[in-house]
Amino acid sequence: MRKKVIVVGAGLAGVEATYYLIKHNIEVDLYEQRPKKNTGEHHTAYFGELVCSNSLKSNNLDNACGLLKEEMRHMGSITMEVAKKTQVPAGNALSVDRDLFSRFLTEEILQSPLVHFHNEEFSLLDDKAYIIVATGPLSSQSIIDKLEALTNDQMFSFFDACAPIIEKESIDFNKAYFKSRYEQGDNSYINCAMNEKEYKTFYQELIKAELAKLHDFDKKYFEGCMPIEVMAKRGENTLRYGPLKPMGLRKTPEDRPYAVVQLRQDNVSGSLYNMVGFQTNLTYKEQKRVFSLIPGLEHAKFVRYGLMHRNTYICAPRHLNPDLSLKKHKNIFIAGQLSGVEGYVESAATGIIVAINVLRHLNGLESSIPPINTMIGALLNYLKLCNPSNFAPMNANFGILKCEGKKDKNEISKIALSSLEDWLGELNA
Ligand SMILES: Cc1cc2nc3c(=O)[nH]c(=O)nc-3n(C[C@H](O)[C@H](O)[C@H](O)COP(=O)(O)OP(=O)(O)OC[C@H]3O[C@@H](n4cnc5c(N)ncnc54)[C@H](O)[C@@H]3O)c2cc1C
Repeated sequence: MRKKVIVVGAGLAGVEATYYLIKHNIEVDLYEQRPKKNTGEHHTAYFGELVCSNSLKSNNLDNACGLLKEEMRHMGSITMEVAKKTQVPAGNALSVDRDLFSRFLTEEILQSPLVHFHNEEFSLLDDKAYIIVATGPLSSQSIIDKLEALTNDQMFSFFDACAPIIEKESIDFNKAYFKSRYEQGDNSYINCAMNEKEYKTFYQELIKAELAKLHDFDKKYFEGCMPIEVMAKRGENTLRYGPLKPMGLRKTPEDRPYAVVQLRQDNVSGSLYNMVGFQTNLTYKEQKRVFSLIPGLEHAKFVRYGLMHRNTYICAPRHLNPDLSLKKHKNIFIAGQLSGVEGYVESAATGIIVAINVLRHLNGLESSIPPINTMIGALLNYLKLCNPSNFAPMNANFGILKCEGKKDKNEISKIALSSLEDWLGELNA
């Protein structure tokens, strides 16, 4: 195998992978289709464009994404370095001037003599070189077709609207309660009951809440799975006969709830709960405002907001090795959102991991994965162990991290960073 790597896609993951490789003296053939061919969501020709928000979320170490970012800094991340240079005031969050951010990333990559840039769509996935596919949730059809042929499987690709996921710890159990409908099952649902007045207030706010911008795929999407706000607009009682049906969910025999919101356990440890039927296209700000009107969720911490966009990703537990190479084609690595992680920072982080392992293979070494008590290690572990039949992308959160009963998030992060340092030390030994 030649000591040259092909990176497809100059998004967040592709940029990180390329940067890591050139820093280790490896030549990279970098393919990016934009602006010749656009994705429908990107607006510039720059690398690492932030398609939506300009926030890379919290910088705090008691926040899962804050920890992940710190881990990336330890691994020499270019996106973290450039984010610092282009930061704008945003409290504890790391937000950037999006244009400067992607312009600086582009310049940093292109100024290297080791980068051979090809402004074209690429889909030739063969076994002649190490190839990092980092084409993102809006991957071009040609590369999706190629990956489907190589894995003999369909890529998950749909116009995605996800329901929000909430940290259980942040739910007010003076109001919320565990119960399964008509006592069937093991009372595994968390229920948030509303009286008539509370429901009507929630309903009025929901139907007038601001929507995130939609493109040409909305009609296609609605056939499959309906956002809660769309369902609500069909009539005041539609939700009460649908996902907010109160029947069989009384807290006590005397109770007469008018509507009940249910939350379903979302991870094995039970620290995360998914709002049942709450897939949505509301803006994040509006989700926080409107969904916090639900009794018990007033102070809910959203680890993932609902959102809607085309999302193409591979079934990681079925097709990827822990180092994110294809099980059947070990020279082809999948990085970024396409690998089944969700979010800017998560996507970028996988770019580093993949590059680390491509470099190891070029040097005749075995793959090496960060420990599962690090945030990046936990994400990779999630991709490996999740049930393939209901696999869905995941972002950084403490619910997936192995933290041996520890509750204090700063302490968990401290352990994670020390563990990561040990791993990096072994890599460089
Ligand atoms: C509309 C939308 C909004 C999002 N909003 C947020 C948000 O606010 N916050 C958040 O954390 N995450 C968000 N995400 C999720 C995700 O974090 C981003 O999509 C992130 O940019 C993914 O990084 P990536 O490197 O995997 O892919 P991308 O950054 O999308 O980069 C992939 C690159 O590959 C190129 N490409 C595709 N196919 C080919 C090909 N065959 N040949 C050559 N080049 C190709 C594309 O042009 C693109 O530049 C959003 C996703 C979408 C689609």
